[in-house]
Amino acid sequence: MKKILSLFLLMCCVLPMFGAAQKRGSTEVRQLQGPQNPRLGFAIHGGAGVIKRGSLSPEKEKAYRAKLEEALLTGFKALQEGKSGLDAVEIAIRILEDSPLFNAGKGAVFTADGKIELDASIMDGKSLAAGAVAGLRHVKNPITLARAVMEKSPHVMMISDGAEKFAKEQKIGLVDEKYFWTQERWNSLQLILKEEGEKKKGGQRSAISGLPYNKFGTVGAIALDKKGNLAAGTSTGGMTNKKYGRVGDAPIIGAGTYANNDTCAVSATGWGEYFIRLGVARDISAVMEYRALAVQQAADLVIKQKLQSLGGDGGVIAMDKFGNIGISFNSEGMYRAYIDSAGKPVVEIYK
Ligand code: ASP
Repeated sequence: MKKILSLFLLMCCVLPMFGAAQKRGSTEVRQLQGPQNPRLGFAIHGGAGVIKRGSLSPEKEKAYRAKLEEALLTGFKALQEGKSGLDAVEIAIRILEDSPLFNAGKGAVFTADGKIELDASIMDGKSLAAGAVAGLRHVKNPITLARAVMEKSPHVMMISDGAEKFAKEQKIGLVDEKYFWTQERWNSLQLILKEEGEKKKGGQRSAISGLPYNKFGTVGAIALDKKGNLAAGTSTGGMTNKKYGRVGDAPIIGAGTYANNDTCAVSATGWGEYFIRLGVARDISAVMEYRALAVQQAADLVIKQKLQSLGGDGGVIAMDKFGNIGISFNSEGMYRAYIDSAGKPVVEIYK
């Protein structure tokens, strides 16, 4: 009788635990594997938008793939050498910022008055330390300044002239505004201004934000390093024809960027106003924390349901504390690259 009673008690204790593990499915299995089998994780993106198959020339597509791969492999190598997730994120984003292909640093889009205003942020999942900058006009690599704000100032966010003054003090590279000028981005602005003019003449409200060439190329990276620390970073020129002083989601911690060792690292791209209103990056972390969703499910819930029903578009790359990657977007395409679970680099553009 005693034996039957103890067997019954044992079943009462063990079965519900088993059930909970089953309910959480693969997340639970990964958690069990995590500590014994820690792995490095690295993923980057180069923006989401109307990138349909066939819309890029073969040369252009090759150039995008090559630059994404270069940034991915360089960041991942840093992780393999034992550098921190923050280092890997900064290294990869700097490569993308220096390329005219992406809407960050060198390839940034123009504001309505033909200027460049750059935003960036970075976050450390271990300490929840974060640094962000906005409205920069002369900083060659905004991600490096964001990291300096995090590590060398008592603040989280610095903007415009003050942030650039701080960059000078920190000996962070400043360039003439001309450095950022590219023919392609200038043409995009002219197209939008023309369309806007025509809409106004016709008495209609401008549909600028719906134009396909309006949203492209923000860059971001997420990493899990040898010590098990997550990091995330994002850098952008914002949206073509944005009003002077407009700040998007990229430098808003919890909107465009978030990292927390307990949950995930996230970098976002898309129509920033919606990402700010939904607090997209932090929301993905929150649903993982409070609802025990796996990283892919969490990203899909926030992007494909919440963002979609609010009318926003874009996507995220996200990574949990075991290096599992979740990528979700509701736009036509998203430039993205990651190291898969077998350690192989993968570069993707289309749906
Ligand atoms: N999220 C960026 C912004 O709104 C734009 C983008 O990701 O393309 O500033």
